Amino acid sequence: MADAPASLNPAQLDAVHHLAGPCLVLAGAGSGKTRVITHKIARLLQAGLKPKQIAAITFTNKAAQEMRERAKGLVGPRAAKELVIATFHSLGVRLLREDGQRLGLKPQFSILDSDDVLGVLRDAGGCSDNALAKRWQWTISLWKNQGLDSDGAAAVAKDADEQVAARVMKLYEERLSAYQAVDFDDLIGLPLKLLRKDAEARAKWQDAFGHVLVDEYQDTNAVQYELLKALVDHPDERRRGLFTAVGDDDQSIYGWRGATIENLKRLPTDWPNLKVIPLEQNYRSTGSILRAANHVIAGNPKLFQKKLWSEFGDGEPVRLIACDGEEHEAERAVGFIQSLRASGGAGADSRGGGGGVKWSDFAILYRANHMARIFEQKLRGAQIPYKVSGGQSFFDRAEIKDLCAWLRLLVNQDDDPAFLRAVTTPKRGIGHTTLGKLGEFAGKWKVSLFEALFAESLPAQLGAKAVGSLHEFGRYVNELEHKARHTSGGEDAKALLLEWLKDIGYEQHLYDGEDSEKLAASRWSNVLDFVDWIAKRCGGQITQDSGNFETERQTVLQVAQTISVIISLAERGDEQDVVTLSTLHAAKGLEWPHVLLAGINEGLLPFKSDAEDMTVERLEEERRLMYVGITRARSTLAVSTLKRRKKGRDTVVGIPSRFIAEMKLDEAPNREDPRERLKKLRAELAAKAAAG
Ligand code: ATP
Ligand code: MG
Repeated sequence: MADAPASLNPAQLDAVHHLAGPCLVLAGAGSGKTRVITHKIARLLQAGLKPKQIAAITFTNKAAQEMRERAKGLVGPRAAKELVIATFHSLGVRLLREDGQRLGLKPQFSILDSDDVLGVLRDAGGCSDNALAKRWQWTISLWKNQGLDSDGAAAVAKDADEQVAARVMKLYEERLSAYQAVDFDDLIGLPLKLLRKDAEARAKWQDAFGHVLVDEYQDTNAVQYELLKALVDHPDERRRGLFTAVGDDDQSIYGWRGATIENLKRLPTDWPNLKVIPLEQNYRSTGSILRAANHVIAGNPKLFQKKLWSEFGDGEPVRLIACDGEEHEAERAVGFIQSLRASGGAGADSRGGGGGVKWSDFAILYRANHMARIFEQKLRGAQIPYKVSGGQSFFDRAEIKDLCAWLRLLVNQDDDPAFLRAVTTPKRGIGHTTLGKLGEFAGKWKVSLFEALFAESLPAQLGAKAVGSLHEFGRYVNELEHKARHTSGGEDAKALLLEWLKDIGYEQHLYDGEDSEKLAASRWSNVLDFVDWIAKRCGGQITQDSGNFETERQTVLQVAQTISVIISLAERGDEQDVVTLSTLHAAKGLEWPHVLLAGINEGLLPFKSDAEDMTVERLEEERRLMYVGITRARSTLAVSTLKRRKKGRDTVVGIPSRFIAEMKLDEAPNREDPRERLKKLRAELAAKAAAG
């Protein structure tokens, strides 16, 4: 969507022109907060900052991409390319790649994904119970997001279970440091540590940025807040606190991951000169949609009073679709899409002009990833193109993870989890016994498995044959690393990657491991997609926030360095004319003309597992999620419920979500003329201003 520079309302302009100190835009959905950020970037350039001095922090890689696109429209491609548009995580990678050595981290450190972390935890805690390891992972991550290390965790551990988790955390920390590896939480925690304890690094990074902008501020966690604070806490009075945060407490939906609304509350205390700007006009949704959203969120206690109104007419009423079950719901979703397409979007608001309805005008949103599958099937059946967003389905596939392990090993040979996966995929006659002995040896000498390979005393322990195979593997990795360091451009990268797959016999490995040829073929086609995906990045075709901030050509090794971060929330394929399937969480910040919220049932939204009691806080977070969902729609909103729904292997009676009643769909619309309402609001504001 084009962002014409002129189209900002007075409150938005206020936020954009406030350059001298900290600024918080606190406002409801669709009120133009993200638009304030892109326009403020342009304003900061006008005011003399260089593009690379402006850091804009978004919540996901996708949001970063979109912001760069929007910025491009305002400031031109050259400046847009140099802007530092990043997620907290990719910004963290950048700080650590440049200065992690100051914390004892090699520049080629590895980034472990969630599965690796789980493996290390199982290993460190000597536990084969996956559920327990997952609980540790969760607990440890929450601690880290509160800024605690294992000593800190031991001090706050509430019960015996948590004490065990804190002990495992200590071992986990030791292993990570031996592997020269970090996890996702470290990407925020370690840069913060760096800025806190290293005056030189602090000065460097505080000088680097002239203004920091943060979107979706309500979903930052304590450590992210501290990192932001450290970055903008410049010693020079005139340069201190130069940041703009925009957010909406009603859209805070990551409490379960440690995000805290405290960050909103403490901002005015930490920055007494903070300018707080509310925005009240919604530019996204029709009256009916907005009214439903406002009704739902009214069920939550108000942290900040916010009003939200729109100048658009009521538009079409919100549709309720009652379905027999999941399959029926997916069929109805297809019908929803097809009928709106056929009618040319009749009933839509007057915006956007004609031009028909595109596939990309539609989104189907749901609470949990697994709900996507049935929609995928029915859409495919109806030959409607779609993409699944927010889930990590593609990058979570075993074949992709195999290849990522290899790439990581090329970057950092000390990465033991990557070593173990690569050395056994495909199988090369190196068995568990050999690896077990190698592990013992490495543990005794406190070296990584890869280093242990070439130790002189190893053959005595393992026998010549095993050592021969290990050496061959080691030599191959070294050779490949050398080649990966020297590729030039996309074609070259692709050739190398294909050569590598051939060398290790990966295609055959897939066919050997899969009973059905069809399945093996589909996995191999994923592999080829992945090769293309990397090659594109090597060719500089994709502006991806990988922490390198480079859109130039990169070598395979350079792309491999940041692979975990790139794919953490990446999507395969580029924007196309396709229907979006997405979780509600991943839909945050986005908008579509026509939205279907699926599975709006008790137990699904609000989500509740049998094991837990629904606390008031949880319910409020689920309500905010519903609010986020409703406010994604511009013209048409449909909400579907299930009369019967699957629950594990059973089918249970479906009860419509309480949030449906809360939308008050049968209430007569407020027919007040929006212009009257505007007048009233202005009068209220003037009265407030006069009162001081
Ligand atoms: P969310 O809370 O969902 O993230 P937001 O507050 O960031 O929403 P934006 O995405 O910036 O809202 O804006 C919502 C829509 O309204 C966008 O399509 C945007 O282009 C449009 N918009 C914002 N401000 C204006 C304006 N002053 N005039 C016209 N359109 C606007
Ligand atoms: Mg936004």
